[in-house]
Amino acid sequence: KIQAAASANDDRVVFSFEFFPPKTEDGVENLFDKMERMVAHNPAFCDITWGAGGSTADLTLEIVKRMQNMVCVESMMHLTCTNMPVEKIDHALTTIKSNGIQNVLALRGDPPHGQDKFVQVEGGFACALDLVKHMRAQYGDYFGITVAGYPEGHPDIIENGLAPEAAYQSDLAYLKKKVDAGADVIITQLFYDTDIFLKFVNDCRQIGITCPIVPGIMPINNYKGFIRMTGFCKTKIPSEVMEALEPIKDNEEAVRAYGIHLGTEMCKKILASGIRTLHLYTLNMEKSALAILVFMRPRSRDKKLQEEWAVPLKSVE
Ligand code: FAD
Repeated sequence: KIQAAASANDDRVVFSFEFFPPKTEDGVENLFDKMERMVAHNPAFCDITWGAGGSTADLTLEIVKRMQNMVCVESMMHLTCTNMPVEKIDHALTTIKSNGIQNVLALRGDPPHGQDKFVQVEGGFACALDLVKHMRAQYGDYFGITVAGYPEGHPDIIENGLAPEAAYQSDLAYLKKKVDAGADVIITQLFYDTDIFLKFVNDCRQIGITCPIVPGIMPINNYKGFIRMTGFCKTKIPSEVMEALEPIKDNEEAVRAYGIHLGTEMCKKILASGIRTLHLYTLNMEKSALAILVFMRPRSRDKKLQEEWAVPLKSVE
């Protein structure tokens, strides 16, 4: 289970790669080619998302089985409650259980396409907390359960009329309920202000959350995607990041190089705080995630990648 790696109490840096199910068969084969190469860098685990509204359920199941049993990497499946009566949840869980997969990222999920608010499906769950409780009641300790944490607070709670600090505290208290119900690990929503993440970890510790809190790092790969994603997740963008991106926003190569530079600096700061786990949202792209891992460790033995990536990085210095 992944919590063993996430709680390892030594100096090793533990990292993981997240992927999403591609839309075409060729895309799936391409993804596995990439995954094979990335797994050679020894991630603690890899995970595969559950498409919004359950749209990729079958494909996510197929991919996670292949990851665990053919790529032979410790694998985690995301599972959401959107459009999922409990029978479908149990079908997904028993399928992965019978394939030896022990890690689940238990999520509520976003509202189905075209709807503003999350609506509990008949016979389904209202929130990730209910899913965690169900998994522990039904499957005991078989699964290692990870849940999502929000360093800036979840947008739903921010929008429900409470003052920002009260909303943030309420979100933290709810996160603690997910952990108390049986979650072993927290992976965070993406962020670009590392201080916000470090404060979040501290705030979690203050209220008695003791499990590993793994920062979710999303390298900036292109400007439009970055603006879309941060807009969707309501992520704060530090002014220096916007200022750096503005003059290069039409130059994809320069944006990617800056994304690597920023991700590297974020990871270095996180490691300097004593945290040893990093979760990379790869967006199914190989190079930025690998480059960050290489550059954040100046003495990395992977000289080949260091040389390969020295050129784009220099272009932003
Ligand atoms: P929950 O934990 O249920 O709650 C979300 C928020 O609602 C809480 O933070 C809290 O503010 C409020 N809330 C809910 N219930 C209560 C309660 N009982 N009491 C008080 N407050 C409550 N989406 C996908 O569709 N597929 C994926 O694969 C996927 N992967 C993700 C991976 C990570 C690491 C993260 C951070 C998010 C991911 N998401 C994914 C997005 C996620 O589904 C959305 O952010 C969704 O809106 C909330 O899911 P959750 O599990 O955090 O919800």
